[in-house]
Amino acid sequence: MTPCLLLPQTPDPTNPLYRPAGLPAFDRILPEHVVPAMERMLEEAETGFSALEASVQPTWRSAVEALDDLMRPLGAAWGIVHHLQGVQASDPLREAIEAVQPRFVTLSLRVGQSRAFYDALTALRASEGLSEAQVRVLDERIRSARHAGVALDGSARDRFNEISQELAQAGLHFAHHVLDATKAVSWEWTDPTDMDGAPETLRAQLAQAYKRAHPEAEATAAQGPWRMTLERALVAPFLEHVPDRAKREAVYRAYGHIATEGAHDNGPLVQRILCLRDEKAKLLGYPTYAALSTASKMAEVPAIYDLLHQLREAARPAARRELTALEERAARADAPLPLMPWDVAFWRERVKEERFQIRDEELRAYLQEPKVLEGLFAVVQDVFGVEVVAADGQVPVWDPSVRFFHVRDARSSELVAAFYLDPYSRPENKRAGAWMDTCLGRRRLEGGDTQVPVAYLVCNATPPTPGRPALLSFDEVTTLFHEFGHGLHHMLTRVDVEPVAGIDGVEWDAVELPSQFMENWCYDIPTLRGMTSHVETGEPMPHDLIERLRAARTFCEGLATLRQLVLGLTDLRLHDGFVPASPDDAFRLQEGIERETSVLPFVEGYRQLCSFQHIFAGGYAAGYYSYKWAEVLSADAFEAFEEVGLDNREALREVGRRFRDTVLALGGSRHPSAIYRDFRGRDARPDALFRQSGFTETIDA
Ligand code: ZN
Repeated sequence: MTPCLLLPQTPDPTNPLYRPAGLPAFDRILPEHVVPAMERMLEEAETGFSALEASVQPTWRSAVEALDDLMRPLGAAWGIVHHLQGVQASDPLREAIEAVQPRFVTLSLRVGQSRAFYDALTALRASEGLSEAQVRVLDERIRSARHAGVALDGSARDRFNEISQELAQAGLHFAHHVLDATKAVSWEWTDPTDMDGAPETLRAQLAQAYKRAHPEAEATAAQGPWRMTLERALVAPFLEHVPDRAKREAVYRAYGHIATEGAHDNGPLVQRILCLRDEKAKLLGYPTYAALSTASKMAEVPAIYDLLHQLREAARPAARRELTALEERAARADAPLPLMPWDVAFWRERVKEERFQIRDEELRAYLQEPKVLEGLFAVVQDVFGVEVVAADGQVPVWDPSVRFFHVRDARSSELVAAFYLDPYSRPENKRAGAWMDTCLGRRRLEGGDTQVPVAYLVCNATPPTPGRPALLSFDEVTTLFHEFGHGLHHMLTRVDVEPVAGIDGVEWDAVELPSQFMENWCYDIPTLRGMTSHVETGEPMPHDLIERLRAARTFCEGLATLRQLVLGLTDLRLHDGFVPASPDDAFRLQEGIERETSVLPFVEGYRQLCSFQHIFAGGYAAGYYSYKWAEVLSADAFEAFEEVGLDNREALREVGRRFRDTVLALGGSRHPSAIYRDFRGRDARPDALFRQSGFTETIDA
């Protein structure tokens, strides 16, 4: 059982994407390989699947492993292709993906809806001698087949298929309406005084937006003209920084009116989608859509209400205090009261600037990328007993700036995992944002060796300049820690049952536990001191700056939490047996929740539901609560470390080992609640999140 990391193994010398094994051959894979390799493998998988389906037996080997073995090369190649489209996008690659995607989706549906496999899995599930991990795999596969309608017959099945089709269409229409309605609204300002008081970066963004709309025109950050649209990336900074209250109100109100009128009106779709989802859930034997959605999640519906209500009680007093502080500040500037929703972000930013005096550029000077990485790896070594060792140049990569690392057990030096790190932005061909993805999963190989897991960690930091290392913003640092947490979850798994190793098979609302947990270290004083070094003086970040950074973390957290709770509660209530008789019903429901939750005046006619894509055109229906749910877990887990003292590295190691042996090692092989109890000795409690959010202190002391 030697751990091993295989270099690229490609059986066809003319096409490195055909049946790839080991690490991907990034030095040889080209867009023109995609279609021929995928078509050949799709063909093989389709034929192979027909044969398997005809002879499937209720045994682990036949019903699970044989299928996974059949699909593995296809999945591996598809994973590489998607990864490349994220980090090295090109038109030929996109066209190749579009050409093969429909056939890939058809095959996945056929596999997931196979009645023969469903019957075999169900029979196998009823047999004796299965391990806990095997039971988890079977339960998950049986459930998703049932959710795909496999167990329905006759007219129920026909109706189910009709609903599925209509829901898919409705989701697409919903998204298109939002897109078109967003594009239909804009403001243009030509008077050089129009943006008085707005910061340079925002003025530049708006001038650029103007130039995009009028390519022949001149527009400068200083003089305008400026163009404002309802893109999210502009709305947030606009509300934070534009002093002209009437402009803020216009933008805020328009944002709440996206897709509420005429041909783009999403109101009827909101009603239709909710009715169809309710019907679909009932066809599948669930009382409500929320019950269907949470059947594959960690949380159960009553517990979610419980948490959201508790959070509301804890956050409201804090939010009231915050609002008072903002109102005092606004009153000093003779701004009209009460503050309305379009005022809050503006005054929050003013108070924040005055109180914490944190300037992004000042922080950056302390956050040199190589030193930050050292600090991150030191935490991981201290806490989890694994050593990260650079192994650049030993494997093919997709860009010269990409790095490769080995992860070793600090005590035995045994290879545990490996990862690629693609740290810098390349706007020309790399997707924005940051993410972790699976390259290889942990798996027993045929000769008895163990393939170690390999992760992709992708960030978008500002690249270094000649003679100067990359300087990260504090946000980029927390993002790096966050993605590394996902990476650890994948890399430190010790599960040998592939479908539930690492992040695979982990419930959606539990998957952010390790990532959010890791973010906490960015606010830990010794960790911060250890990973900072001023680019000119070499000094670590001074204590008073660290204190201001820590204090700013929870500033206005009460107001932010209430906003999230309105969305989370609305999402849950809409999917919990609520069958609207008219589009207005859903809006009224949200209004009621808003009135009992928010501390701000209610704005009549604000219909954000019509652009709430997470739940109407994304995968978050009856799942928006997941953000807060995972925060409860990560805050409570981090408190286990705080309880023994963060500066007591010796004691930390013991808690760290327990975290590694449970949360990080067990992946999807046990229910997340059971894994959490293995770690903490009890269920997670929300108190830690209250404390971390500052709901237990007064802010204006
Ligand atoms: Zn995440």
